[in-house]
Amino acid sequence: MDAPLQEEIQAGRAPTLQFLRDNGTYFPKVVSTFPTMSVSIDTTMLTGEPPNIHGIYGLTYYNQKEKRVVNFGTGPKEIFLFGVKRVLQAAMLQLNQKLISKDVKTIHEETNKPTASINAMVYRGKDHTELRPPWITWLTGLLPRKIRTEAPPIFSYGSIHTLDKRSNPKSMLSQFGVNDQFSSMEIISLIKKDKLPSLSLVYFPGNDIIVHKKGTSEGKGIMKADNQIASILDAFGSWEEAIQICSFIVLGDSGQTNMVQKDTYVDLRKILHPYSIMPLSRDIAKSQDQLILCVNERMSYINILDEEISYRDVVRLCKTEKKLDVIAWQESDGWIHVVSGQTDGILSFRPDGDYLDEYEQKWHLEGDISILDLTLDEQKIQYGIYPDALSRLAGTLTSNDRSVVVTVSPGYEIVGQGSPKHKGASHGSLHHLDSLVPMIVTGIKQAPEHLRLINFKKWLLQLLEE
Ligand SMILES: [Zn+2]
Repeated sequence: MDAPLQEEIQAGRAPTLQFLRDNGTYFPKVVSTFPTMSVSIDTTMLTGEPPNIHGIYGLTYYNQKEKRVVNFGTGPKEIFLFGVKRVLQAAMLQLNQKLISKDVKTIHEETNKPTASINAMVYRGKDHTELRPPWITWLTGLLPRKIRTEAPPIFSYGSIHTLDKRSNPKSMLSQFGVNDQFSSMEIISLIKKDKLPSLSLVYFPGNDIIVHKKGTSEGKGIMKADNQIASILDAFGSWEEAIQICSFIVLGDSGQTNMVQKDTYVDLRKILHPYSIMPLSRDIAKSQDQLILCVNERMSYINILDEEISYRDVVRLCKTEKKLDVIAWQESDGWIHVVSGQTDGILSFRPDGDYLDEYEQKWHLEGDISILDLTLDEQKIQYGIYPDALSRLAGTLTSNDRSVVVTVSPGYEIVGQGSPKHKGASHGSLHHLDSLVPMIVTGIKQAPEHLRLINFKKWLLQLLEE
């Protein structure tokens, strides 16, 4: 995030990022995807499409096509209750292989230039590849010994697909290599062997975990990532040489919001208690299940299974919780409606109207625009605390899936059965604190068309053609 990054740089604890910033351009506010969860963000960045087109709605969501809940690993308790096998299989056997829509293409698939993906959960490419899961997962029957997948020509993913044997992703303690140090060792091995392709995507998962525990003022994660980036630049001989040879884009994927210390967690099961909610132990509904909750930290999907229950029934209950700041759904006529637990009134919108927003998107708008903190200057829409709110909300909804999307105000987190309860900070919502990420760019003159992750695919493909 911008503020902690600036703070670490000022205190002299992030000299590499400072060097890159001083020798490049700094963009403090790039808009991430909603829900602000890595797996949906990364899929949007790589495909240039919102969740309702690329198919990955969050870390957990109800898959309408297969009529089952997908969970890529939300938190230890939830993973255990939902089933370790289901979680591992979703992440390793299904995410890239079949859950990302075949109607979209990732950057790795679209470009004819060679690319690399290092430690990114979303990596779909064109080359047949075989993954080798850790022995403990196949010995216990959680995963097969070998997994077929399509990946970029240069592909690294912890211990299951390693480029350089010396990177040694070690053990369970180091998350089987899904950590910052492994990421940098793998890219360094490419630099040293002079095998850097046209584009390399290197993922650093470390800072997210630290901020979840300690809050946004904890700078250790930035310092650690800075160290790893320093060793990457060192591998070129000198930092000056590094920025001569390569262009760098350093980017966060979501912000985080500090948790308040009292009444932090909003339990949707209590709010929706009149209805029977599908237990976490099942991924496929039975006839008695009326609702499904798929909680993504500070946002949640509420899927309505029972035909007798209307959107308005669910929305009326959600509105009784003041901490739910955004409650949205899409009717079969295409209109999206938004209400809030914090104020009365309703805002309705759909695409292709006479109002134009900051991103040149056109909208029909009716009702109370203050619900999404919009302001109007004649026909022009300005966003307030929810950046790019209209298209980001619309990107999580479809007119036939009978789901209600809710988010909580800053300081709070949504929980259901088994959900993780973060003590320091959390993300997932539409709010700017969760949604704005900083970016440092060196060696590249043009910026993306708009400062949003959804515009990155086009930008990066253009750069690859130069
Ligand atoms: Zn996180």
